[in-house]
Amino acid sequence: MKIADRNHCTGCGACADACPVSCIAMKTSEEGFLFPVVDESRCIGCDVCKKACHVLNPPEKLLPETVFAAWARDDSIRTSSSSGGVYSVLGEYVLENGGIITGCRFDRDMVLKHELCDQPGGTVRFRGSKYVQCFTDGVYRKIKQELINGKTVLFTGTPCQVAGLLSFLGRTYEKLITCDLVCHGVPSQKIFRSYLERHHLSPNPDHSVIAFRDLKGWGNFYISVSEQDNFRWRSDDTTNEFIRAFLSGYDYNEACYECPYARVERTGDLTLADFWGLGKSIPFDGDSSKGCSLILVNTEKGSKLLQAVHDKLFLEKRTLEEARQGNGQLRNPVLRQPMRDVFYQMDWDSIACKINYGKPSPLRSLLRSCKKTVMGRLRHGNRI
Ligand SMILES: Cc1cc2nc3c(=O)[nH]c(=O)nc-3n(C[C@H](O)[C@H](O)[C@H](O)COP(=O)(O)OP(=O)(O)OC[C@H]3O[C@@H](n4cnc5c(N)ncnc54)[C@H](O)[C@@H]3O)c2cc1C
Ligand code: SF4
Ligand code: SF4
Ligand code: SF4
Repeated sequence: MKIADRNHCTGCGACADACPVSCIAMKTSEEGFLFPVVDESRCIGCDVCKKACHVLNPPEKLLPETVFAAWARDDSIRTSSSSGGVYSVLGEYVLENGGIITGCRFDRDMVLKHELCDQPGGTVRFRGSKYVQCFTDGVYRKIKQELINGKTVLFTGTPCQVAGLLSFLGRTYEKLITCDLVCHGVPSQKIFRSYLERHHLSPNPDHSVIAFRDLKGWGNFYISVSEQDNFRWRSDDTTNEFIRAFLSGYDYNEACYECPYARVERTGDLTLADFWGLGKSIPFDGDSSKGCSLILVNTEKGSKLLQAVHDKLFLEKRTLEEARQGNGQLRNPVLRQPMRDVFYQMDWDSIACKINYGKPSPLRSLLRSCKKTVMGRLRHGNRI
């Protein structure tokens, strides 16, 4: 039995969580992407899985009501998050008020999974973007149970995971708040693990922090593995094939190249992203160098949650057009690279020789870094 077409299945796992006889297993493809496999011998033909599939039943898409540039006023949150740390501020508020949050982190076997958390301070374990497909691993069922128990739940994930949760639930819950991330696309966890192996890294997530963004400054993409705040290993900008392939769209799940959520209309109550292009078309006086989030407020519920934490955030109203202009994933899915067909068949050495990601020349890199320094100093009024 087929649920969504394989090329459009996002691997959200809603069908597996919904099946009343648990006869759907989420398996990984050769490339390492999740897809559902039905045990036909146990299937009772009820079609609940099809009803729970967001590809077959697209969710309502919401036009944002308000747009903000924002960051956490607490610098320790802001500088340890990918954008401006808004996720942690929202999450801590929910936790302090007896609610539950979700987030994803690597388990001991280096598998990235969604988890629930009800402990104040719990956002730390989920902080930071991991640029691979995160396994939902039964989280929708657990969320439903918590909602039935009367708990407030804040779910944060890619728009297809938010859509999967909504279609799995099949009805609205007043105490569910959803937060979708603007999403470029996801490489598989398998290819990420192979990248770590290439660099002889076998981090143990119990002791190591694996980061995909440079936590020392906003806008830089690096892979780093650190232990007790010390870098054990950190890729540099020119050798980081993983991030280069990610940003250029070589290694996504097939569904990502036709993603129906790469648009301004959203699935969550709130949308979080980087505020790329901030100040380009409309002046911005703030200092965004330590990170800046884009927040799209899509529902009344989202607006109420944001109101509740407004004193913990720097917030400035901006326009939807400015957000759209700066962020390609609010306009279109990333283009599928012709080399995508062979990308997953190559090893990292062949990838490094065969794929030119448009690497900047050393001179261009130097000019780019000088420009960044000069702009940073001018912004701080420190003329050189
Ligand atoms: C795969 C992916 C692609 C993205 N692409 C873009 C983009 O093209 N443009 C853009 O502006 N922003 C993009 N983002 C969003 C951006 O990187 C930040 O996650 C977002 O701005 C929130 O940042 P923050 O500082 O508020 O919180 P952070 O602490 O940085 O965000 C943490 C939250 O993200 C969740 N998360 C982390 N990795 C994943 C994952 N793989 N799957 C599901 N949830 C995850 C965590 O569980 C947590 O809830 C992407 C995020 C991901 C995960
Ligand atoms: S039709 Fe029903 S029993 Fe069969 S896989 Fe789908 S949900 Fe499960
Ligand atoms: S519910 Fe999700 S995992 Fe299942 S077929 Fe649809 S998109 Fe794929
Ligand atoms: S690009 Fe679209 S389909 Fe792919 S992970 Fe992101 S939201 Fe899901």
